[in-house]
Amino acid sequence: MAMTWDEMLAVTGAEVHSGKVRENDTIPHITTDTRKIAEGDLFIALRGENFDGADFAADALAKGAAAVLIGTPISKSVEEDLRKQQGAVLAVEDTLKAYQAIAHAWRMKFDIPVVAITGSNGKTTTKDLTAAVLSGRGAVCRTAANYNNEIGLPLTLLGITEADTAAVVEIGMRGLGQIAALAPVAAPNIAIVTNVCEVHMELLGSLENIAKAKAELVQAVPVGGTVLLNADDERVAAMRSCAADGVRVLTYGISAEADIRAEALRCGVDGSRFMVTWANERHDYSIPLAGRHNVSNTLAALAAGFVLGLTPQEMQMGLRGLTPTKMRYEVHEVGAWRFINDAYNASPSSMRAAIETTAALYEGRKVAVLGDMLELGAAAEEAHRAIGRRAAKLGFAVLVTYGVQARWIHESAEAAGCALCHHAESHAAAAAFLRTALADGDTVLFKGSRGMRMEEIIALLTGEEAGH
Ligand code: ADP
Repeated sequence: MAMTWDEMLAVTGAEVHSGKVRENDTIPHITTDTRKIAEGDLFIALRGENFDGADFAADALAKGAAAVLIGTPISKSVEEDLRKQQGAVLAVEDTLKAYQAIAHAWRMKFDIPVVAITGSNGKTTTKDLTAAVLSGRGAVCRTAANYNNEIGLPLTLLGITEADTAAVVEIGMRGLGQIAALAPVAAPNIAIVTNVCEVHMELLGSLENIAKAKAELVQAVPVGGTVLLNADDERVAAMRSCAADGVRVLTYGISAEADIRAEALRCGVDGSRFMVTWANERHDYSIPLAGRHNVSNTLAALAAGFVLGLTPQEMQMGLRGLTPTKMRYEVHEVGAWRFINDAYNASPSSMRAAIETTAALYEGRKVAVLGDMLELGAAAEEAHRAIGRRAAKLGFAVLVTYGVQARWIHESAEAAGCALCHHAESHAAAAAFLRTALADGDTVLFKGSRGMRMEEIIALLTGEEAGH
């Protein structure tokens, strides 16, 4: 499969500003990163907050790119630098739109299902689970890490190859209208919405608006496609009404009635097992991820597998190949302590899921080391206080907090009777306190928003460097 220069010019509407491209030749590789340029490639200059790709365009040509695509108007200095190089200069008003148009055209060359996933929590995990399930039948292209924005999505789609039998993409958002703009780039056949909760409250203001933004993915599924909704989240379940006529809607869930339901759950320290009935057959599935929320994420993945006609055996085999992503409820035995690194990120619902999972799964004393949940706007104080009350109620023996907002967790946990609460002013102070407070056999949960880098406390305690 290939894209010719001519085709690329047609889908982007770009004009040849100077130089020449061989119209019928294929473009070896398309990139936005000059470090990845090879002979004959196309470099697309994106404009970021801190950089303008146009400043690197001459460098791309010097490294052998056949052409660069840059935004208009082209500045004098860029123009001058480009004139000193060999190669074609292509111009278009909006290079990001052009990049997305190319990615969309590339995706449409492949007659494979594309599964798009959104939700406040669990996008990356559900993406990895869905890719694992579908890989029981063949190769799957998927979003790398959490590259789920306006640049990451086209990057993922351009990675589809002839070997792939499906693509699984994550679509994130920070405001209304963003998913509506991005989803058509992926042209998904299946959409999954995991849940709606207080993430990005600062930008969206209310849960209703967050639900509205996520529902844009449901609206983007064309006739003949399928929407998979989490029945345990009432705001997600209500998105049924947003699906177009001719779009199939299926629900999945643990508690609520659903088309695809987990039964006989056995949630253990190393993972979970459960039964799922589909097409009058009941099968057992197991995952190496702890917590009920991950059973929910797996149901979404299995639902996609069912819709695409995979057999339970293929899906079970696919799940065996799952490699969990870092810092999402990673359990480590550290000497006589058990550390749970869930420091990747935190929102009110994921924080609650993590403390409840920890309280339910482990024997012995439980310790929580919690940082701020960022970007909650007006909901922040009450959300933090609620976590403090919940941690006290769940019987955490020690609670260490770090961060300006986490002080609310500290205050409410203390008021609710948590035995030993300590608010630390730095990672080092938190580690120092933990060294004195931890006892053999303790299970310690570390969690906070990405910006809080709670994994650094683990690194200080273990003497290792923090991962990423
Ligand atoms: P996202 O990609 O949406 O940020 P991740 O899969 O990276 O989500 O998970 C982020 C955090 O959310 C993790 O700490 C995890 O424990 C928690 N989480 C994952 N799935 C769910 C879910 N279905 N409900 C609530 N919390 C979840």
